Amino acid sequence: MGETTAIQATKSNQTPKSIIHQKYGTNAFYKIEEVREPVQNSCPGLAIPQQGPCLFRCNLQLPELSVTSETFKKKRDAEQNAAQMALEKLGIQPATDSPTSREPWDELIARISFLFSNEFLSSQHLPQHPLIGHFKAAFQRETECGLLPVSVLATYDAKLNNLCKSIKHNVERDPHLIVTLIMKAARLSDSAAISQGKLWIWKQSPYSPDILKALTSQQLSSSEGIWIQAVRIPCSIEKPVEPVTLYISSNGYYMDAIAQKLGLTDNSQILVSRTVGKASSEMRLYFSVLELPVPSDSSLEDLLDAKEVVTDGSFNERASYFSSQNIYGDAILASIGYTWKFPELFHEDVSLGTYYRMLIGRLPNGGYKLSREAILVAELPVAFTSRSNWRGSFPSDLLAMFCRQHWLSEPVYSTISITDPVDPFSVTSQASKKLKVTKPVEEETKYANGGSRDANDKESITLGDSFRCEVKILSKGQDLIIECFPVDSYRKPNDARQNAALKVLSWLNKYLKLDMHVEKLFSSGETHGLSFYPETFSKEFALCRSVHAGQLASALRKCSLLASSCVDQLNITQEQSVCSFKVEGLDSGVFPSTGTLICISYVVSLVRKEEDTKESLESSDEFEFEVGTGAVIPEVEACVTQMSMNQSAHFNTELPPRDFIFAAAGDSAKSMSLLSMGACFLEYSISLLRLMEPLEERMEQALFSPPLSKQRVEFALRHINESCASTLVDFGCGSGSLLDSLLDISTSLEKMVGVDISRKSLSRAAKALHSKLSENSDPAKSSIGIKSALLYDGSITVFDPRLTGFDIGTCLEVIEHMEEDQAHLFGDVVLSSFRPRILIVSTPNYEYNSILQRNDLSNKDEDPDEKMPCKFRNHDHKFEWTREQFNNWASDLAMKHSYSVAISGVGGSADVEPGFASQIAIFRRGPIDVVECSENVDIAHPYEVIWNWSRG
Ligand code: SAH
Ligand code: MG
Repeated sequence: MGETTAIQATKSNQTPKSIIHQKYGTNAFYKIEEVREPVQNSCPGLAIPQQGPCLFRCNLQLPELSVTSETFKKKRDAEQNAAQMALEKLGIQPATDSPTSREPWDELIARISFLFSNEFLSSQHLPQHPLIGHFKAAFQRETECGLLPVSVLATYDAKLNNLCKSIKHNVERDPHLIVTLIMKAARLSDSAAISQGKLWIWKQSPYSPDILKALTSQQLSSSEGIWIQAVRIPCSIEKPVEPVTLYISSNGYYMDAIAQKLGLTDNSQILVSRTVGKASSEMRLYFSVLELPVPSDSSLEDLLDAKEVVTDGSFNERASYFSSQNIYGDAILASIGYTWKFPELFHEDVSLGTYYRMLIGRLPNGGYKLSREAILVAELPVAFTSRSNWRGSFPSDLLAMFCRQHWLSEPVYSTISITDPVDPFSVTSQASKKLKVTKPVEEETKYANGGSRDANDKESITLGDSFRCEVKILSKGQDLIIECFPVDSYRKPNDARQNAALKVLSWLNKYLKLDMHVEKLFSSGETHGLSFYPETFSKEFALCRSVHAGQLASALRKCSLLASSCVDQLNITQEQSVCSFKVEGLDSGVFPSTGTLICISYVVSLVRKEEDTKESLESSDEFEFEVGTGAVIPEVEACVTQMSMNQSAHFNTELPPRDFIFAAAGDSAKSMSLLSMGACFLEYSISLLRLMEPLEERMEQALFSPPLSKQRVEFALRHINESCASTLVDFGCGSGSLLDSLLDISTSLEKMVGVDISRKSLSRAAKALHSKLSENSDPAKSSIGIKSALLYDGSITVFDPRLTGFDIGTCLEVIEHMEEDQAHLFGDVVLSSFRPRILIVSTPNYEYNSILQRNDLSNKDEDPDEKMPCKFRNHDHKFEWTREQFNNWASDLAMKHSYSVAISGVGGSADVEPGFASQIAIFRRGPIDVVECSENVDIAHPYEVIWNWSRG
């Protein structure tokens, strides 16, 4: 061994952190803590200690020791300081003259010498070493010196590979570099020899005859050759990935078969990637070496300084993306090789389906689809409402998988607990306890109050703890890429964690699908509590985005306009107007609503236009999901919300991106050939099997008799009859439950109107009212005096003059579905502009929740924490008010607009704590009324008529 003097050690500009990384890789954990040092209090009377600037301290954990840095203003400095302290403790000097890379270099040479020695092949303790198979194959080809392709050495001897990594950490990214290092070391080895101009290494002197005999005598078990399926990934992203078949004859070498497919003259020109796919997979990418990277006279120093090889045009984005290594030219993806486990050649087919499942599995959405085994139906939901309603892999698992696949560090979570200020006088102690917390105290109080804007609210209700969670995505080198700290707080730490993970996943999904302009995307991310580190971000995700863009941007999903459904007879335009459904079966009157967990069965088929060929791509007998969370493609969601239980429906869509079809079709040759003939569409057939009501409805039905919703209707009815109202407007009528019930009984009403912003609900309301009114169209039989009924699509915070001056207005369980400022706005608009004679507003009483919680009837044997999955009764609620909050809202409003107000309720009693379950305000217009609308006759009519019925 000679040239060790040529080796320059660690470069002087290496930071302590990068030395630690070289040595420990992902076994080094950096944990940043925020430290807020209280400033010396100059004013002793001040209750709340002043806070100093935010500082950071870093704790570095290595397998053998752990150190904690000083405090710094920048996180990065704290990390470097910790790394420096660790190096000092380890006795490693990051100085120029340190010979840290000399030892691995010497070891590398020694390792190569050992691998090409008689000892290696005769050593009994390594009978299964993967290289042995390669040596056998070499001897089969009648070489006595065991000619091996250098990439095989680099790939299958873990020790060589690790030594190369410790000499230069970025060899991992670049198979060319690793090959260069090994060739260089082989030249210096005393037993190995290298070819001139070829990437082969062999033993300088022939192996001993005993060894040759021992290794060649074992006959290969099968005398016939094998065929295996593999996939070719062309260098140009425009060219499609295609299946290839490798044939390996009984005494052939698989590397030769691959060389042939790559159009190479011999196996020395093949480079091999690390494994791709699952951790246990043997799938690797095989590709051609760019040029011979071993100028024989270059020193190791030059090699170490060599930039990663970059060649324009020949960079294979898709293959590089799969392996996170630089791959050039066409590549073959195959699962074949000698392993520790199998003494014979291991091989498995890799189909196009495998490739596409792997490809889409790298998108957060695709990963979710795969976890649900519903590629053509499932979508990554936009919200994690509760563990019991979530189906498929959990967001935190999806995110961890995403990071692993993209060669990033595991996500780092930190959850903080937000304690309620139970007693306003204990603020001081509360505040000082919170020094470790990142956000100023006032802000937290706001969240803790469930979004209450009134920070001075003297309410002393115990809401229990709630939690916020932050998640960080870091590169393998521990550089920050994304931080996400959503403002929302949750009752359970796990919910906070899952939602934080989901925020990141949803954003990444949008980013990778190219749904939006990049700048818009980043700013939308920032409004959702995400922050980005642009430099590291673009470094880690550029390739990812361009590969998925190239693959996915091709086709945009659109529904085809096909057969009309019964809904059209009512002249209702669908919310998803691009798609229409054919619903079959009797209407059972039981509809899914937001928050309902439903179970469907479905079949998705690929249908060839013009011809009668149909091939099932995907199906499920039982597929559960929560309505309203975006857990399925929009067409399925739109369809099921139009269906009642036990009904079936069909609709067609244009083809989604090919990747999804190929992934779903798996290895179905028939589907593939159908597709290649062109002009196909997808046909969806869905049956609604079961539905499980959301918690609020379940509780209202089970805990109150009659059910709370019925009590609200009866309450409204009493006021209608007492006031002899003939006109009624229901603000936020939803699916028309109130209007529908009023048609069952005799009232003084002649005209009823409903307004809502949900088309879905409105079309259901229209359906129900239409059939009831037409059934009762014989006035002799009917006790109903209704002469006209109308449904409008519009927001009740916007004034429409057609709804002025009604006798009675109702707004049941609606305001809590709006943001609080919108609820205030509604109050002003309705009492100042619509000005009904009577207005009835109901909303949940927050204080009553403790009783509901105690009696919660959902799955008693489940995790007790699951019982009340969110702090409100329904996930769609933006707030729930206490009695005092509701009283304040109602009395301020009444005063402002000259109404009187009385507070009442249903469920429970006013005199028994904690009051009614549903609190109700009844506003009455004052005697002096100013009517101001007449002058603006041609004022705009912002509401859209959805359905209009009149008698006769
Ligand atoms: N009043 C109905 C529905 C209550 S659910 C019942 O008692 O059954 C709440 C309804 O309020 C939903 O249908 C929702 O679409 C509607 N809503 C929320 N914000 C609205 C707004 N700004 N304008 C009109 N409707 C609204
Ligand atoms: Mg509600």
